[in-house]
Formats: sequence, C-alpha cells, structure tokens
Amino acid sequence: MLAFLLSLASSSAVGDPSILKFDRIVDGTGEALQHREIAVDDGRIVAVGDDLARLYPKAEVVDLQDLTAVPGLIDVHVHMTYGLREAPVGDPWAALFASPAEDRLVASVWNARATISSGVTTARDLNALDHVDFQIRALIRSGIVVGPRLLLSGPAFHPLLLPPVPEGESRDVVAEFSRQARNRVEMGTDWIKIFATTGSAEDISGEQVFFYPEIHAATEIAHEAGIRVAVHCYGPSAVPDALRAGVDSIEHAVGMSDELLREWAATGVFYVPTIDHNRYYADHRSEYGYDSATEENLRSFVARNTETLRRAIKHGIPIAMGSDAVMSMFGENARELEWFVEAGMTPGEALHTATMNGARLLGLAETLGRIAEGYTADFVGVDGNPLEDIRAVSRRVRWVMKDGVVVLDRGQR
Ligand SMILES: [Zn+2]
Repeated sequence: MLAFLLSLASSSAVGDPSILKFDRIVDGTGEALQHREIAVDDGRIVAVGDDLARLYPKAEVVDLQDLTAVPGLIDVHVHMTYGLREAPVGDPWAALFASPAEDRLVASVWNARATISSGVTTARDLNALDHVDFQIRALIRSGIVVGPRLLLSGPAFHPLLLPPVPEGESRDVVAEFSRQARNRVEMGTDWIKIFATTGSAEDISGEQVFFYPEIHAATEIAHEAGIRVAVHCYGPSAVPDALRAGVDSIEHAVGMSDELLREWAATGVFYVPTIDHNRYYADHRSEYGYDSATEENLRSFVARNTETLRRAIKHGIPIAMGSDAVMSMFGENARELEWFVEAGMTPGEALHTATMNGARLLGLAETLGRIAEGYTADFVGVDGNPLEDIRAVSRRVRWVMKDGVVVLDRGQR
C-alpha cells in the first residue's frame, strides 16, 4: 500500500532532530558503515552514529530496523514530461507529439511520483518542450507534487527542433548552436542536451548528425555560464567529437573500440549507458506496436550495450546511472543497476554510480550521494542487504526521505 505522507512530521524544528534507526547503513562509497543511526534536522544530516538519543535526548526516534538505509538515488537521465494522460489509441509517440502541454504536465506529475517511489530523490531531465519541465520542477519545489529534485536541460538540440532554413540557403550550424546555447543559459537550464546521432526508441541507428565545431561552440558557451553538456550518441560515431569538445557526459553509446575507450578514460567524461530502457521497450512492445524483429533488435542492443559497459568499466571510465525512463517505465528507474552488476560491477560499485557518481556529474557532490554529517537528508530504506543483492535497491524500496521529509512509507510501522 502506497502512502504518501505530505506532512512535515519527520522534519522537526531546528535543534530538535529526528533519529532514524536502521538495520544497517550503506553509504554512497558502496560500503556499509559501522553505525546504524542517523540524526536529521532541518533537512540535513547532523550526526551518524550509535546511541544518538544520548546526544539528543529530546529527539523523536523512528524505528526503521527492518530496513537498510542507502543514500537517495540519483537518476541522471529521465524524460519526466514524456507521458500520456490516457492510454493512447495507436502509436504512443504520435500521441505524445500531438498532446497539449497541460496533458504532459499531468503525466509528469505521475512520473515524478513513480520516480521518487523507486528511491530516486534527484534526477536530470534531458529534453522537454513548452517549459513543462520547469513547471513540474516548480510544483515539486513548492511541495504540491511529490517528486525528485530536478536538474533540467529544457529543449534539446535536435535536428527536428532547429528552425527551418529558407529554400536555397544553407544552415550555419555553429552560429545556430551558439544562438541556442545562449538561449538555454538565459532560460535558466542546468544542462544542454545535444542529440549528436540518430537513435531512439525502436530506432537503434547511430548516425552522426552534429559534429565537433557546433558541439564545441555550444559547450564553450555552456561552460562559461556554469552549465553542463550531455550528448546523445547511440553508436560510437560522434563520441570522438564529443570528447574533443569537452562535454560532461555521453549517453547510451555502444560499440566503441578499446582504443577509443582508452582515450575516453583519459578525459574523465562520464558514461551514462542507459541499458535498461531498451529492455523496457522490448518488454512493452505491444504497447508501442513494435513487431518481433524490432524486439530482437532492441534485445541485441541491450547485449551490445552491456558488453560495451563491461569494457568501459575495465578502462576506468566514470559511470553514472541513467534510466532513460519514459511513459510507463517510471518506477523502474533503478533497474539499470542490475545491468551494471551483470557487466561486472560489485553491487556496492553499482550503488556508487547511482549516488556519489551521479552527484559528481551533477556538480552536487558536496551535498548529495553520501550518508555523512552535513549532507542533505535524502535516504532510501530498502528490504535486504544491497551489498549482497542489488535488487534490494532496484526492486525493494520501502521508505523514502527527501530533504528530511518522509515521502514514501510502505511499512507497517
Ligand atoms: Zn533519453
């Protein structure tokens, strides 16, 4: 039974903390702490230890001893606004493109709620139109909607989203990218998202559509303004240009040679593999009207993606968890971690990608991704030991706190 507690019951006044008592605490380092208690005050962790009631005799003690605490998860690739108000007649993508902004806002309310129920307390949204991403973020921030804190890209740089060129003229892509990058900075986005190759949903092609000069121009403007750049690359084709342009993360990419992975590792750019979303499309193919050949393509892409990740891990490329959740996938955000373990990570290393690494990619490593004094009070209570079985995190989330407020409690406490 889902119970969303909107009251501020768990965020006591300053100077009068709550003490959360768990069976075990696993930090974003991917290791279990020696301690079992966390004291939370005004949305922050004020102490981690044992017998904290002696330190704070007036504190309310919350018994969560049937659960393991992990930091609030960070999903660095979602599409919160890709959703439908009602089950579509026919193609869901066509229905999405035809749907008015207010319907997408309603859908994103459900997506936000499902996301935080999966333990994700922070997410990066990579492409939205009509300011719906800003609207859902404002609703979450004001407490009207339950959902993760969001970092946004606004509209992505996509061939279909560029203004039309008059007949007989050719496009100055660098000038257009520079203009759009300045526009995103003015708009107040946290990120710029560039689709540098084709490939999405049933289309698994990876043909390069944008190149070094324009990616570099946008990245320079973004970095000068203190915002970051994520590049969509389905195949390896655009990866060298993206790395050379100094972007911050590369999404999806498969099929890189070991030589390219070695170059990549030297840059420190993050890899966000997004393996699980193609498993989702394959599992839900009837919902999308995909035939069995498409399903096979999707499953083979999953296998190639996992194989690429296995080699990326060996090369030491920093990895962050991104689900690429859309439509009915929200709530399964952390299943990506199961592929990370499949590709050779320990469960602790997989957890690290969805906590400390996610925080680092988002520039929030000082406040998120750890269970330590001074950090934001974002925790997930899971059933079981995630260091033995990552599915404790990906499938057995029982309790979620964000900013010191309980937002989900599936227990009988
Ligand atoms: Zn995506």
